Amino acid sequence: MSDRYLDFANTGVGGWLTGALGLPRPAPLKRRADAGAGLTGPLLLGPGGDSRLTPVLTRLAAENGREVQTEWSPDVRYGGLVFDASACVDALSAQALYRFFHQAVRSVAEHGRILVIGLPPETMADAEGEAIQRGLEGFVRSLAKEARRSIGVHLVYVEPGAEAAAETTLSFLLSPRSAYVSGQPILVSTPVTEAMDETEHAGRRVLVTGGSRGIGEAIVRLFVAEGARVTALDVPGAQQALASLSAELGVDVLTLDITAPDAIPALLADARAKGGYDVVIHNAGVTRDRTLARMEPREWDSVIAVNLTAPLAMTQALVEGGEMRRNGRIIAVSSLSGIAGNMGQTNYALSKAGWIGAVRRLAPRLASQGITVNAVAPGFIETQMTAAIPFAIREAGRRMNSMGQGGHPVDVAETIAWMADARSGGVNGQVVRVCGQSLLGA
Ligand code: NAD
Repeated sequence: MSDRYLDFANTGVGGWLTGALGLPRPAPLKRRADAGAGLTGPLLLGPGGDSRLTPVLTRLAAENGREVQTEWSPDVRYGGLVFDASACVDALSAQALYRFFHQAVRSVAEHGRILVIGLPPETMADAEGEAIQRGLEGFVRSLAKEARRSIGVHLVYVEPGAEAAAETTLSFLLSPRSAYVSGQPILVSTPVTEAMDETEHAGRRVLVTGGSRGIGEAIVRLFVAEGARVTALDVPGAQQALASLSAELGVDVLTLDITAPDAIPALLADARAKGGYDVVIHNAGVTRDRTLARMEPREWDSVIAVNLTAPLAMTQALVEGGEMRRNGRIIAVSSLSGIAGNMGQTNYALSKAGWIGAVRRLAPRLASQGITVNAVAPGFIETQMTAAIPFAIREAGRRMNSMGQGGHPVDVAETIAWMADARSGGVNGQVVRVCGQSLLGA
């Protein structure tokens, strides 16, 4: 989908005109496929390089051909700033956070990244320690709003002992793969399995529901590109689209309405034939928008069934049927509507918020079987669905976030791919928004 305002604002005359009129000038995001994407300068690690994540960060920087510096210099444009705030346990020690960023925040290059590392607040020894660590969320969300220039700002709580498991998360957040994610607190805990030597996705069996178009199609394409063996599932009405995806990418297809009475036996038969799944992505979704007083019972029922109860039943059947492999990943596509609510979407918001509850419930339970359960909550993503929204509402949806633009389906796919990584066993029970730090529900 094209965003004409974004394109215009980044031309010579458009830049001048928007500047003269005091209009916002969002910087186009740099994604993995874009020329020049990636860290464009050294990583500055504070305070003074004193961090329990130093070995991981040094390795990641080296992989990107960048060095890690520990002393700020006014002459350097940094690709990223990382501040380990684990030692911030009271107001006095938290001054280090202010001093570091006060000095360095203007030295981050466009499209750069800022990460704050913390300790899970509930693990702190006293109330002040918990308050300061929890307070990092407010700090990060505010800095993300100040950063602009397509700079993503994040908080990563790393449980003591889970430092090595944080690698995929730090790698994701410091890369162009996280272009449309900002202001997010993410917890990395002790991994559900020891699988540090596994590759990312190569050879893994991945099921994507609603895989024939939109966000689902982007997920299918990304996993295929990474060497996974993908099954794209969609309704019988999408058979044509599935067939052409299969012809183009060589993916398996499963034509199935996930709410059909025989859906579970059909799913299990398919899973068995494939030796089970490593990754299941519940992406299929529908909207039937209408204010509650006008909503027909079938509009309520179909949204809850497709978006929530059918994928929950599928999850249960796959796990209990032994068709989720060890080190498995279950990822649901929730929505910002499930966090902020939305006019005319009581049914949809219940189904999407429902997945947040399901993630909280299932994550600790399935951890013992080596399976993680997470969700992404997309905001405004440029798809056929959002292209159909009336112009004024669409413009508001696009601009009301720190990046000043809509996301692309690939942004959601990239976030899912990070959660699905075989080495992301420390990412469990998380709900991560892919919304450019939308003002809604923030
Ligand atoms: P889309 O309508 O383009 O794709 C949804 C897919 O799900 C379609 O291929 C459809 O055929 C399939 N599907 C619907 N009912 C099904 C059923 N009963 N069984 C099997 N497949 C079924 O929508 P999209 O924009 O690509 O959205 C994908 C997901 O992302 C949805 O869960 C949606 O709620 C969520 N989401 C989208 C946005 C956005 O801005 N586009 C924002 C937040 C969340």
